[in-house]
Amino acid sequence: MAKQKTKKSEKKEKKEEVNLECRDKDCPEHGNLKLRGRTFKGVVISKNEKRIAIEFERMIYIKKYERYARTKTKIHARLPRCREKEVNIGDLVRVRECRPLSKIIHFAFLEKINPGEEKK
Ligand SMILES: [Zn+2]
Repeated sequence: MAKQKTKKSEKKEKKEEVNLECRDKDCPEHGNLKLRGRTFKGVVISKNEKRIAIEFERMIYIKKYERYARTKTKIHARLPRCREKEVNIGDLVRVRECRPLSKIIHFAFLEKINPGEEKK
């Protein structure tokens, strides 16, 4: 009897996962948003409703001094409702270019990079 009960509960959980609806039009998975263009990875520095900001370092060559300088680039990216819970400040994530969604947002959240995967 006990075994049957656990099986039933598992089934229920799976159904609930499927039933979680994402009504976000600008969700790359469930909506109409198409991702194309450049991909960047960076650390999440701020998280708001439907939006994250990531930052990463770049090397820029300065001709006058014939040397490289470090600069930081900040990108705002769309964060769909269905992925909101898995992203937190300080996480390493990958974003991909999409059509401009607003004045500052023209990227969308693609995936989270686990620290273990990054080392490889
Ligand atoms: Zn979604």
